[in-house]
Amino acid sequence: MFDLILQGGCVVDGTGRPGVIADVGIRGERIEGIGDLSRAEAQRRLDVTGKVVSPGFVDTHTHAEGALLVDPQLECAIRQGITTLFIGIDGMSYAPLSPANYRTYRHWLSGLLGFPPEELDMSSVAALRAHYHQRVAVNTVYLAPHATIRLEVLGFRDVPMDDAALQQAEQLLRESLEQGAVGFTSGSKYYPGPWGDTRELIALCRVVAEMDRVYMSEPRSVPGIPGGGGAAEAMAIATASGCKLHFAHWRTSAESAGHIEQIMADIDGARTATSDVTFDIYPYPSGSSIPISFLPGWAQDGGPHEILRRLESPDERGRIAVYLDAHQDGFLEPMTLSFVPATPSLEGVRLSALAAERGQSRGEALCDLLLENQLTLGHVTAPPSDPAVCEQIMQDALALLSRPDYMVCSDITPAGGVPHPRCYGAFPRLLAQTRSADSPLSLEAMLHRMTDRPARRFGLTDRGRVAVGYFADLVVLDPNTVTDTATYAEPKRFPIGIPHVVVNGRLAVEHDRCTGVFAGRAIP
Ligand SMILES: [Zn+2]
Repeated sequence: MFDLILQGGCVVDGTGRPGVIADVGIRGERIEGIGDLSRAEAQRRLDVTGKVVSPGFVDTHTHAEGALLVDPQLECAIRQGITTLFIGIDGMSYAPLSPANYRTYRHWLSGLLGFPPEELDMSSVAALRAHYHQRVAVNTVYLAPHATIRLEVLGFRDVPMDDAALQQAEQLLRESLEQGAVGFTSGSKYYPGPWGDTRELIALCRVVAEMDRVYMSEPRSVPGIPGGGGAAEAMAIATASGCKLHFAHWRTSAESAGHIEQIMADIDGARTATSDVTFDIYPYPSGSSIPISFLPGWAQDGGPHEILRRLESPDERGRIAVYLDAHQDGFLEPMTLSFVPATPSLEGVRLSALAAERGQSRGEALCDLLLENQLTLGHVTAPPSDPAVCEQIMQDALALLSRPDYMVCSDITPAGGVPHPRCYGAFPRLLAQTRSADSPLSLEAMLHRMTDRPARRFGLTDRGRVAVGYFADLVVLDPNTVTDTATYAEPKRFPIGIPHVVVNGRLAVEHDRCTGVFAGRAIP
């Protein structure tokens, strides 16, 4: 007796093989039968004739850990068909942190991750995982973050990591991996991470290599960073430590549109016979982040309270503004405010426009905004104004996804009233591309990059395929209509053509509606 049979769909199993018409029978959390189940007994049958039954999507890059703790449904993810999402990304998250350090980092990260409860136990990865296990709609996978570990060992301070501290950091990382983190992450500009040097990252990545996990790098990009940063530094770290390397959302931009070889040069140039490198990507021409990360290192030293103290001092605020205008204007110019808790009416407004209205430089306006919002501020980078450039970046994404080492992510950053459209549309946006006559990827190939490929890469046992014995994480989609509807101007719009989503055997979305079932596991 099955609990649920998805009847009459075209099963695309996630391996890239062509779909076959078959019923899928679920018992408990697992898939227990695939084939003609018309005579089998079942508690429930759902007719999915004309639809595709795919494995649930495995999203290797999100910033949803804060949102999930206050909104376990996270409709923006599950409605895209995401059944497993990775957290702890870009080197910054909540565990392992003492109660005091958790409160500090919760504040610094609030523009990105929002405000989860203040009293949660985040002292270990095991403690963090328990907050999500069977309490949220999606499966969660945690990666141990570099800046978090650095904060726990050294505080929010610009100090080098001496040998004793390094040993402590290695031990924290080892424990985190033993407690279920599938890898280690570092970020481009998220303090206190940028104060670490290459040697520190190599030492930590040796632990990653020892335990056969993956180092996920968002290449470092702070002016004057020790080690130089960039893809070259990530490759050097992987080569020296012997770890597997995964580049976060590695894509072309307005500057490199049409020139994939340009973004691959540092990587290809540094490959050795033993290099093991993979990538993920989201299908948009610009990103989203937190303005606090653009402040200079000296202004970050001491953490949120010290940052606020400096912003309150006219003299120091002036120096910060001068730095921002001189060194970060490339990021400030296209900055659109996405999360402004003190003045939500500013969400969707371009920083440049606000600065002009206030008669300030962009740097000055940003300093005031950070102060007005007690540092809790999020932004989306406006896309290039030329639609041809945006289209080229999409074509580049498809070309990159054609490679054997690429997979799909959303980079969900859900805080605020006008977030990035990727939060609602990343996966269906790519699925819709496969319908175009000149798409380099078939639907089956695209689904492979969303399911089996990331599940294998990160060692998620019995996930990522429609196969007997596998967990029943499934998406029912309409191949003729599936698409995103979210835009930069109106991001909070759900996709269409994804009527049902199953997580661990339970219907999480049924007929386009969330069921309120929270069957997500903290995996693996
Ligand atoms: Zn990210």
